[in-house]
Amino acid sequence: MGKVTGFLEIDRRDRRYAPASDRVRHYREFVIPLSEEATRDQAARCMNCGIPYCHNGCPVNNQIPDWNDLVYRGDWEEAARNLHSTNNFPEFTGRVCPAPCEASCTLNLEDVPVTIKTIECAIADRAIEEGWVRPEPPPRVTGKKVAIVGSGPAGLACAQQLARAGHEVHVFEKNGKAGGLLRYGIPDFKLEKQHVDRRIAQMEAEGVTFHYGAHVGETLPVEVLIEEHDAVVLCGGAEKPRDLPIPGRDLDGIHFAMDFLPQQNRRVSGEPLGNVKPILADGKHVVVIGGGDTGADCIGTSARQGAVSIVQLEIMPRPPEKENKLLTWPNWPLKLRTSSSHEEGAERDFSVMTQEFIGENGRVKKIRCVRVDDKFKPIPGTEFELKADLVLLAMGFVHPVHEGMIKSLGLALDSRGNIAADTLTYRTSHPKVFAAGDMRRGQSLVVWAIREGRQAAHAVDKFLMGATTLPR
Ligand SMILES: Cc1cc2nc3c(=O)[nH]c(=O)nc-3n(C[C@H](O)[C@H](O)[C@H](O)COP(=O)(O)OP(=O)(O)OC[C@H]3O[C@@H](n4cnc5c(N)ncnc54)[C@H](O)[C@@H]3O)c2cc1C
Ligand code: SF4
Repeated sequence: MGKVTGFLEIDRRDRRYAPASDRVRHYREFVIPLSEEATRDQAARCMNCGIPYCHNGCPVNNQIPDWNDLVYRGDWEEAARNLHSTNNFPEFTGRVCPAPCEASCTLNLEDVPVTIKTIECAIADRAIEEGWVRPEPPPRVTGKKVAIVGSGPAGLACAQQLARAGHEVHVFEKNGKAGGLLRYGIPDFKLEKQHVDRRIAQMEAEGVTFHYGAHVGETLPVEVLIEEHDAVVLCGGAEKPRDLPIPGRDLDGIHFAMDFLPQQNRRVSGEPLGNVKPILADGKHVVVIGGGDTGADCIGTSARQGAVSIVQLEIMPRPPEKENKLLTWPNWPLKLRTSSSHEEGAERDFSVMTQEFIGENGRVKKIRCVRVDDKFKPIPGTEFELKADLVLLAMGFVHPVHEGMIKSLGLALDSRGNIAADTLTYRTSHPKVFAAGDMRRGQSLVVWAIREGRQAAHAVDKFLMGATTLPR
């Protein structure tokens, strides 16, 4: 513990955002990093608790008190080494993780947790700037060949770990570039894509081969992968969106969020949209149905495209502004969360059910809604209408796409329709096939995907070699 009295003397201070009126003019990141001195001060607030709850709150079990101490002492290189020992991609989590670690921090009992995510991001960015993030090719090769389907955070973490263990790793990705939702879901204003590109280059230098435009189960039979590899890991995400099958659903102008967001990410990076109709919010009244990260990203993207108005509807009741710490700590509390996108100009309404889309000449013009009680029963007399030229459905994802790869292998599914595999062996009902990330656990977070990718790599290495030194 660097400074024993740090938490008493120093106030919590976090990164600020550029003003909303400036940042909505572009798609670049807008978080302003703390200075080195301020970051060091924030690290000094860590109490190095006997039982560090933050360490458990973090799904990759980042050794948070250790690197806080190293930052306080100015040993950034050792802090970066420590951080990378548990997290392959801390510059991703330092930007997009909701930071359950901070909810678990003991100082959060007073509502002033250590700015853990900010310190993580500072260490990760410093490591890149200083050239400490280098390819780590394996000292020896094993002669074993592994196929990974999907290049989201789960597939990337799994591939990097297995390549460093000496296996020949091939990643098969249906899209034109790697990254999964890091590249095509999360907007550039939250995570610029050079961060993803840098890691792909590192992994290529470590021996990972990426095969793009390879839609396993569609353009490439999964049976071929199984035949040609010693193990196959499925990291295809949970891509089946939850629909809203109400009257008027087939009108033009109603789209799933993941039909809208990838288009803008492709525009930003100059990747062709392909054979699809452009979906744009400019000059439109936009209604986003569904809260959560995806809904917030639709708001931020619509604001940047020049929407006239943006309303976000949520069927759940408005959560409390503040949690009851004594009931919730050190767990992740249910409370009202206002993202940077919400601050950019969206109206939010809770306990609202959408009953009908109303159109003119085949295009959506309005939606008809009703308020619901706490059992989601419509309250008579509370019906209302909203203008809507563009409706974005952001109600989450039900499970992975079953058609193609999963059906063709006849894999067992869990009760929610995800691939059934435990978190020790990560093995599916097929003896040579493993599964990790959203494809196994259902829609989740980047940090959980990284954890599962790492743990699946441990399991696969053990399966192939009989023993493993890869961390879990
Ligand atoms: C819009 C949006 C915003 C989000 N924002 C955040 C956030 O801010 N913070 C956070 O922590 N989490 C966020 N999430 C959740 C997070 O992105 C996911 O939990 C995480 O990316 C899951 O990682 P994954 O590797 O399991 O799957 P994915 O990232 O979904 O990657 C799966 C990959 O597999 C490929 N694939 C699928 N099937 C096949 C096939 N048959 N053949 C070949 N390739 C295939 C896909 O093309 C994709 O590249 C967000 C999700 C969305 C949708
Ligand atoms: S990965 Fe997420 S939970 Fe873990 S330390 Fe970073 S911000 Fe916290």
